[in-house]
Amino acid sequence: ETGTEMLSIEGVVSSYGQIEVLHDINLKINSGEIVSLVGANGAGKSTLLMAISGLQPLDKGQMSFEGENLNKMSVDKRVSRGIVQVPEGRQVFKDLSVRDNLRLGAYTRKQGPEVQRDLQKVYSRFPILEQKQDNLAGELSGGQQQMLAIGRALMARPRLLLLDEPSMGLAPLIVEEIFGIIRELTEEGITVFLVEQNASQALALADRGYVLETGRVVLEGTGRELLSNEKVREAYLGM
Ligand code: ATP
Repeated sequence: ETGTEMLSIEGVVSSYGQIEVLHDINLKINSGEIVSLVGANGAGKSTLLMAISGLQPLDKGQMSFEGENLNKMSVDKRVSRGIVQVPEGRQVFKDLSVRDNLRLGAYTRKQGPEVQRDLQKVYSRFPILEQKQDNLAGELSGGQQQMLAIGRALMARPRLLLLDEPSMGLAPLIVEEIFGIIRELTEEGITVFLVEQNASQALALADRGYVLETGRVVLEGTGRELLSNEKVREAYLGM
């Protein structure tokens, strides 16, 4: 079913108090795609992800997921539908074990053998997490915590995975590894919306991308088109 519209965002406006930070956002994600959203610090990228997750209210506009209106849908229900966010800065539970962090990812699901099987799947994808399953999450390195955050999201059986700056603060080799994992996930049928300040790598990985500037989408195109766009090269790739 690759290519059918999965997420549709139309005319979305969102604010913190009196301050409007998202202005008339229009964006679409088709099933099977990796779509990247790039933009500077403070452009509104995290706010848009939180709005998709249901953690940030809309002032105006319309969001739908597989034809179903999201506007009034609770966060938990969105998770059950398969909209799962990996938050900025990982936000793993540092005082809980790796295993308990992963189990928490399945909080909206019926606990049982399927969850146990998915835990094993996460362990085979990330062997380091199995080795460290009894360690506290806070004892992991930054890259391992990012893997844990992704593993926790996988425990919810995502269909649309929302990733907020997964490369933040990680060494280049670890970033390569994380981006490799993201590509594998899409090959397995998970659709990905990737938010990044690291525009060059995010656009290189993406089928399509959007550029957000001070709360507005100013450019959109295929990953390749955006990478060769003069404005993107100057403003985001330092060329
Ligand atoms: P970053 O990479 O820093 O997360 P971003 O593109 O994700 O940047 P947002 O975090 O969405 O940007 O922030 C958009 C704007 O909203 C910024 O001007 C920011 O200062 C403001 N903002 C973010 N969170 C809040 C909040 N809780 N209350 C008030 N203003 C906020």
